[in-house]
Amino acid sequence: MTDVKCELECGELLHGHPCPPLTLGVRAGHAALRALAVPRAVERELFAMVEVTSDHYGQGFADGVQVATGCTFGKDRIVRLPHGKLGLTLLDQRRRRAVRVALRAAVGEALESSAWFRAVRSAGEPWAPVPREVLEPILAFVLDCEDDHLFSTSPIFPMELEEGAPSFRTVPCQACGDLVLEPYVERRGEAQLCLRCAERIPPRR
Ligand SMILES: [Zn+2]
Ligand SMILES: [Zn+2]
Repeated sequence: MTDVKCELECGELLHGHPCPPLTLGVRAGHAALRALAVPRAVERELFAMVEVTSDHYGQGFADGVQVATGCTFGKDRIVRLPHGKLGLTLLDQRRRRAVRVALRAAVGEALESSAWFRAVRSAGEPWAPVPREVLEPILAFVLDCEDDHLFSTSPIFPMELEEGAPSFRTVPCQACGDLVLEPYVERRGEAQLCLRCAERIPPRR
């Protein structure tokens, strides 16, 4: 059984640092799980679509969602929708239904008028750490808000994604020796090559 505090510690480890978007991602994940009345994913039963883009200041949001929902990059259960928002659609594959939760503008505005936001925006280096005393008030604010205050939640709507069957058969590349999943092997006459070697070795004429 995990709780938000434990997930935030795990999120901090995964993401590399604590930040309000990470906390918001964990909170958004929980809000969506509650709306769908499902527990966090053990296997591949849930799928997350986050609207935070790679140029958004709130990158931590996607990591928070992964930690809270179990929809991880490793399980191929999370994608970015290029919408530039702190929004999440969580899909329950078993019941073929989904919900969208999105940060309320008032909370976003509070975030963007915080000392944390000014510190992040004015940091000359994007990897400069934010001092703890700058972080703590905004983290406490985000943690203490009720779900309803933080996010708007859509009605539940029908949705499903087609699932590909996993592949179990591997073959050794005859040039480099790496084991390759069969659909990713290129055949050159009798030889079977991985895609890296196939790129490197020109086909014989
Ligand atoms: Zn962050
Ligand atoms: Zn190879």
